[in-house]
Amino acid sequence: MIEYDLLEKIENKLGSVVKVKTLETVRYKDKSYPIIALEMGKSDKSPVFGLFSGVHGIERIGTHLALNYLNSFAEQLQWDETLHEMLNKIRIVSIPIINPVGLDFKKRSNGNNVDLMRDAPQSAEIKTYLPVSGQTLSPALPWYRGLKDDMEIESKAVIEFINSHLKTSEFMMSLDVHSGFGMVDRLWYPYGYSKKKIKDFGLIQKFEQLLNNNISYHVYKLEQQSDSYVIHGDLWDYLYDENLEMNSNIYIPWTLELGSWVWVKKNPRQALSFSGFFNPILPHRYKRTMRRHRSLLDFMIRSTLNYKKWTS
Ligand SMILES: [Zn+2]
Repeated sequence: MIEYDLLEKIENKLGSVVKVKTLETVRYKDKSYPIIALEMGKSDKSPVFGLFSGVHGIERIGTHLALNYLNSFAEQLQWDETLHEMLNKIRIVSIPIINPVGLDFKKRSNGNNVDLMRDAPQSAEIKTYLPVSGQTLSPALPWYRGLKDDMEIESKAVIEFINSHLKTSEFMMSLDVHSGFGMVDRLWYPYGYSKKKIKDFGLIQKFEQLLNNNISYHVYKLEQQSDSYVIHGDLWDYLYDENLEMNSNIYIPWTLELGSWVWVKKNPRQALSFSGFFNPILPHRYKRTMRRHRSLLDFMIRSTLNYKKWTS
């Protein structure tokens, strides 16, 4: 799979700066698919920024966006001393291919037909009749939530990995990249399962102000996920609530939902393939998507590193 090759090249470029971990191996149709995590940074106590993608295999663009950013970061480390100094004060971690079977077979769900972003145990607090919110009727239909007495290997690997960082750090921010919804690029904060405000809503407002002040004319619409999309079993909702119960730190998980309907509107032929609903097909649009979010990622890393300045 080309994405594994790209990841390996990045690992080699990062050399001793990165710790590479195989969190789990998923077996599917006689093949093995490792779930690989990267960790950079020197101290366990540093604030953590996490970049995640590939939860939904069909949304390939998210993994490409994350890999492209990690590759630029690795290139910059070759000559930029300030970036090395930064890694004394922050940890940057990533799992760019969370659902490798989905990616390889161009499907949303994992090998067991479970939608990993519906896999956590919590159910929506608002009545929802739409299958898109997550369903338990059949694995043959999309948005299947899986068996609710256990979670999938991929979900458990992500949860355990993030918890290991939350345990030691006072502050963590993460970004999980998706595509396939809406005309604009959205930045979602929890909850997806409820209309209630998260405990850290004040920090969300401060972050939004900081973003508006620092990246003029940015393209993002910030909103609570349930404003657009009420769902069961969102992993980030689950991790956020678990962290509130277990730790006294701050965790802010963001989801970047790329507004892929614009690509279909501008190039209706995209609708001829299933993948076209989730990924830009024309080369110039692909390149534009790769460029477009660089400043957001830099900004998230800087605001994680300097969290004390704007959260207090
Ligand atoms: Zn998605």
